[in-house]
Amino acid sequence: MVPSRVVIVTTCPVCASPLGRSAFCGKCGALISDQDGTIVRAARPARLLALLADVALIVGTLGIGWLIWSYGLASKGQSPGDALAKVRIIRRDGTAASMTRLGVRLGVRILLFGLLDYLCMFVNRDGRTLHDLATRTIAVKAQGSEKVYERRAVRRVPVQAAPVTVAPSQFEAELRPTPAPVPEVSTVRPERPIAPGSDPTEMTLRRLEFLRSQKLITEQEYQERRQTALQTY
Ligand SMILES: [Zn+2]
Repeated sequence: MVPSRVVIVTTCPVCASPLGRSAFCGKCGALISDQDGTIVRAARPARLLALLADVALIVGTLGIGWLIWSYGLASKGQSPGDALAKVRIIRRDGTAASMTRLGVRLGVRILLFGLLDYLCMFVNRDGRTLHDLATRTIAVKAQGSEKVYERRAVRRVPVQAAPVTVAPSQFEAELRPTPAPVPEVSTVRPERPIAPGSDPTEMTLRRLEFLRSQKLITEQEYQERRQTALQTY
């Protein structure tokens, strides 16, 4: 029997548990906007480790070595500390962060340097620091998120000049404790929630449909992935 009362439940595309307005699933830590479910939230201790490693490396290399190393790692969305702690920084919508964004993020991080910046991480449900919020970034586990930056490297298409999102008003909005809810990917409700135990092909196809409906992938990508999914299973 199908219940006549329609209840819209936003569910995790990976473990099908109900979602709030977070970027990540509260249960399995998967990034909601990632169709493969391989991108997972970075653990808070790992982020603290990355911070300590960065500080130690900055001191140890008088800043210069660290800067050069950082420049080399930026194409992977990592600082040297992040690389050691196996953390990666991506945009909240699951795409790669540009050099500009990473640079601004570093600036904000230095500007805010202190306990408050990182204490925020323990209050925020997605484990985001103040400099994450200010630059709309999230920290994810390095393993499983390589594709985010690989994809960008492969495309090489002149990305529609990404607007630099450092307008002061936006900054303030992000730093305020109760920002006006901005509709972002994770708050979008899939039309058909995925039930636990659905067969994998079905789950993949629904996820693709969802991504296409949200314009997170192009029609061509959708068709390609759909073909792959149908062939795989
Ligand atoms: Zn989940």
